[in-house]
Amino acid sequence: MRPREPIDHELLDTWMKASAEQEFEHLMGSLEVMVAEQTLARRPRCIGSGRCCSFQSFGHRLYLTGLEAARVMRRTTPPHGHDGDSCPFLEDCSCSIHLARPLGCRMFFCDPGATDWQQQLHETVLGSIKRYHEDMGVPYLYADWLVLAEAYSGRT
Ligand code: SF4
Repeated sequence: MRPREPIDHELLDTWMKASAEQEFEHLMGSLEVMVAEQTLARRPRCIGSGRCCSFQSFGHRLYLTGLEAARVMRRTTPPHGHDGDSCPFLEDCSCSIHLARPLGCRMFFCDPGATDWQQQLHETVLGSIKRYHEDMGVPYLYADWLVLAEAYSGRT
């Protein structure tokens, strides 16, 4: 869902604090390993063009939870705005935050052969993150990466 209103600062602070919890880091670390193993096993084709990170022109959007976005921002230097099309972390056709990139970036491949399994993997991963929100009582929002990145960047 794309929020219609600007994201509340209190909510951004809540996610930022919650994203530093050891339990969350443990969950995200294990999900990263699972995604890497499943991707390696299937070997989808990727030429590393960076085209899928230019959302508007590629016809693709990246969505993630506010909590995961906070984790990415905590591990990187906030970007200075974006052009409304590309991810603010795209530099010279490659990802400038490769090790800290969201799980959605690790699971998306334009290879037509990857469509089915990446959808299933995405649902499994999002389900785990959703359960974490419920178990820990963290407010849940699944939103456009550009909106979340901009909300955090605007605070620095
Ligand atoms: S974080 Fe990196 S991989 Fe993900 S959309 Fe941005 S530039 Fe692309």
